[in-house]
Amino acid sequence: MLFPPTIAGSLPKPSWLAETEKLWPKWKLEGDALAQAKRDAALIWIKEQEDAGIEIVSDGEQFRTHFVHGFLETVEDIDWDLKTKMGIRNNRYVVDVPTVTGRPKRSRPVHAQEAAFCRAHTKKGLKFTLPGPMTICDTLADGHFGRRADMAMAFAEILNEEALELEAEGVDTIQFDEPAFNVFMDDVNEWGIAALERAARGLKCTTAVHICYGYGIEANLKWKETLGAEWRQYEAIFPAINRSSIRQVSLECTNSHVPISLIGLLPDKELLIGVIDVASNTIETPEQVAGTITEALKHADAARILPCTNCGMAPLSRTVASGKLKALGAGAELARRQLG
Ligand code: ZN
Repeated sequence: MLFPPTIAGSLPKPSWLAETEKLWPKWKLEGDALAQAKRDAALIWIKEQEDAGIEIVSDGEQFRTHFVHGFLETVEDIDWDLKTKMGIRNNRYVVDVPTVTGRPKRSRPVHAQEAAFCRAHTKKGLKFTLPGPMTICDTLADGHFGRRADMAMAFAEILNEEALELEAEGVDTIQFDEPAFNVFMDDVNEWGIAALERAARGLKCTTAVHICYGYGIEANLKWKETLGAEWRQYEAIFPAINRSSIRQVSLECTNSHVPISLIGLLPDKELLIGVIDVASNTIETPEQVAGTITEALKHADAARILPCTNCGMAPLSRTVASGKLKALGAGAELARRQLG
């Protein structure tokens, strides 16, 4: 099928599961009841994605509070009580972050059961998202390594163990989320892509990297105002990403200031083109979605284009996210008809 739609990752949590319209929502249940409610929420979103015509579905990150901490929670040698103030994403926001005190180890598989549950409930392509090594390092203070590149490589090794297990559970696409790639462009070229490839080593399933300008939260909106009329961060990193072993690149397009012609720097990659704006509650029309796909077609052949959301939809309301899923599916369908 041409233009198989997929989503960047997260979807809102239902109000009976967690606080709504928050990036760091608190769970509303505990223990077995919480575990059951997470599975129920994932089931609802799988069904909604299928009904909307999404071809590569995800769990909507219903099992975790946040994509970075969801993975790190069970990792040993991170001291969650030893908080260090750090300006993350190059000082875009200052937060208290936990501290790495030794070489990180997984205490147990993190997401395998969740992936197996989703696999049992859909015949569509199944995507699972993990934080990328550079973004993990930008969310933790280093109390052990002394060099960010070394810390990233250590996390890449445990991400790789996790990714291989997810693949064994039947996951079709493993996506590493690297919003930090748009911030530390020199580091991306020096060691970021090497760490990413280490995280993906040996995977036979589809691999993807998601590089965005962040959720539509206040700090990000302010940062975006400083980026000028054209956002050309991708220009600095796409050539090296194109040479990498990662198969797909997920990027922002619609309503952002990214010149879509920059996808011309990725001639060897499949492109997850952001056709849904996650920083706005306005639901796109199928015509708008198809229009963004048409723009992308000027710089890439149809076989390499997968319409996608710009980023995760976690902070949106459930109603808006449902509407955007439908627009994504309908817009891809319209683009197919226009082409055929
Ligand atoms: Zn994103």
